[in-house]
Amino acid sequence: MVSAQRATTRWVTRSIPFFLIGFVGFTSYVVVQRICLDFFLTRQQKPGTATAFLVVYSLTLLLALIAYLRVLFVIIYNPGVVPLGPNAVTQREENKKTRRMLGRQDDIEAKSANPPPDENPDSPGLEAFYSKDVFVCNEDGRPKWCASCCNWKPDRAHHCSELERCCLKMDHFCPWVGGIVGEPSYKFFTQFTFYATLYWGAVIAATAFALQQSKSSGAGIDGFYIGALGLGCFFVIFTFTMTGTAVRYICMNLTNVDYLKSKVVVHCLAIRVPQGTPPGPNYGIITYPLPRQDDRAPSPNLSGQTVTENNTNSPRDLLASRSFAIVKTQIGENPWDLGPFRNWKSVMGNNIIDWLLPINIPPNYVSNESMYEMGPLYPELRRRYGLPDIEHESKTPG
Ligand SMILES: [Zn+2]
Repeated sequence: MVSAQRATTRWVTRSIPFFLIGFVGFTSYVVVQRICLDFFLTRQQKPGTATAFLVVYSLTLLLALIAYLRVLFVIIYNPGVVPLGPNAVTQREENKKTRRMLGRQDDIEAKSANPPPDENPDSPGLEAFYSKDVFVCNEDGRPKWCASCCNWKPDRAHHCSELERCCLKMDHFCPWVGGIVGEPSYKFFTQFTFYATLYWGAVIAATAFALQQSKSSGAGIDGFYIGALGLGCFFVIFTFTMTGTAVRYICMNLTNVDYLKSKVVVHCLAIRVPQGTPPGPNYGIITYPLPRQDDRAPSPNLSGQTVTENNTNSPRDLLASRSFAIVKTQIGENPWDLGPFRNWKSVMGNNIIDWLLPINIPPNYVSNESMYEMGPLYPELRRRYGLPDIEHESKTPG
């Protein structure tokens, strides 16, 4: 399990389940004992009403509980964190020492102590990027680097400062479920907030109806009903908003983190082109594997036009080498937007059973093309930049 790094966060996340048990325990006592059994069944002699509320209450509670446990299980056993780079442990030890020495002005200093991207052309992990046809990169054509994890960031991963780890499709750190809501847990989290909305909706219906009935029968107002109704109203606003937001982001193929900058973001992508393609008027070219230091020809212009001037690696490397054009999207464009329904299915699964039941994790997207399925913007970018096709190349073996 990957635990939160801050003691306060750990304390909050560990205590929240006890508060939840308290709230749900109190509500269950009010709805089941005081409303269904004592009021509707015993006092009002309405077994039908009592049974109806009992069934709806138990069913929504059960579904919310199963979804909650499913989220917890995934967050503990499959949180979707990116493995640390080989130097991360030693680097973090050094940062700690620096911080201790520098005392309170640590943050700025410690951050500047983080190492720059690995300059080794055979840096571990690079191949996972350039073996695809398109990946997210910096302006120099190399993937994004996480200075804290000392590793290349997979497409769509973000660094979570609570866990001090990069997380796949990170959405947010959720104290209610005690961890990162990200790629593996997003579906179950959405189902949990949805069933929690139904559950608190059932609580509101039972308590409001009981209040109205007891008032009209002259039995007076039970303070417990009011208490449970208050809890219901508070939580239903919260869970309903969360569900609505989650569904909206899923249909846009964005996470919470993506959404915050979705209006201003410009994605830089490395898009594969045939080997030997020269740089274009509005794109540079990078060729992998990166040339070793002693092989690199002196390059007068490193402004991103041609990153690799001369690749004199071994014949085997040349055979396996792959060239990429470095292009940018326009502001706010989302290369992974597949259209609302396919976006939905990519997170929630292919059929209604998957959408409703918190059982299966949707299968990972596996393709030689990209880490995540690309939307129509990808072929559009090829056209926009006039990039030559690679179809004939990808069919050759090896
Ligand atoms: Zn990181």
